[in-house]
Amino acid sequence: MNPFTFASASDVGEALRDIAGHRGARFIAGGTNILDLMKENVARPPRLIDITRLPLKSIEPTADGGLRLGALATNAQTAYHDEVRRRYPLVSKAILAGASAQIRNMATNGGNLLQRTRCWYFYDTAVPCNKREPGSGCGAIGGINRIHAVLGHSEQCIAVHPSDFCVALAALEAVVRVSGPAGERAIAFSEFHRLPGDTPHIDNVLAPDELITAIDLPPRGFAEHCAYLKIRDRVSFAFALVSVAAALEIDGGAIREARIALGGVAHKPWRVREAEALLVGRPPTEENFRCVADAYLDGAHGYPHNAFKIELAKRAIRRALGEALHEPR
Ligand code: SF4
Repeated sequence: MNPFTFASASDVGEALRDIAGHRGARFIAGGTNILDLMKENVARPPRLIDITRLPLKSIEPTADGGLRLGALATNAQTAYHDEVRRRYPLVSKAILAGASAQIRNMATNGGNLLQRTRCWYFYDTAVPCNKREPGSGCGAIGGINRIHAVLGHSEQCIAVHPSDFCVALAALEAVVRVSGPAGERAIAFSEFHRLPGDTPHIDNVLAPDELITAIDLPPRGFAEHCAYLKIRDRVSFAFALVSVAAALEIDGGAIREARIALGGVAHKPWRVREAEALLVGRPPTEENFRCVADAYLDGAHGYPHNAFKIELAKRAIRRALGEALHEPR
């Protein structure tokens, strides 16, 4: 492991000044990903700034009727919070589908958004990886690519984003609140993570000297009709091969609005609004679900070991929509 210095910030301003003054420094909260990356020599920050004492742990209503999730609330605190379970069960279900109880107790909401891909070549410093070492190549494209992307990938990188929480946040159209040297800004969730393109080493639009302070859930939680379906190689503690966050608003026997986000298939949670619109005004039938599922995977491209994900994702969408329609809360 490389040597690094360690500091502990007591407020947001101190944390921002510290990171601005130390090039390459990183924040640490739960540490459930950054410590793995450091132990594997994938990340070598010269300084860690502990932010666990910052007052960003609360979960509270917003003025517009939504709910603000503090960046330092743990995933477990969020999943089991009464208001999250009552108004945003999709968020609770997605969090509880991810990781293990021990990790959910440590991992924070902000950190969940920033976790790096679980592409195994990214963690193996003996093989090329454009995300770890820009310009070195991609070990996955000609390698074992069972867990990789079928949508939105590039010739530089075919990794997927590993979070379950983020798939639900994409479906609900959450907003990421950020503080930095220029003040505060709000980022629509759909704009937060990015596709790999020619710069796969950049996962999201957060600047190195910015800090996530909260995630805002909008007033509508689709609590009556929602489902989170995760397909994985083993039931316990595995990342998604394909996951689906599905949310429906039904009015008079017809779908008024449909939200579908996919995990495990792209570099970011995947939404296709044009496909979702195919359901609007239609009854929630298996035939219509099949139609939207096919449209969602239009243009998907698999590799030798992961092409199965395309059909799997279609079936998962249909099943998740059916569960969202019928599953009692
Ligand atoms: Fe690296 Fe991306 Fe290729 Fe994986 S898929 S080896 S993360 S460049």
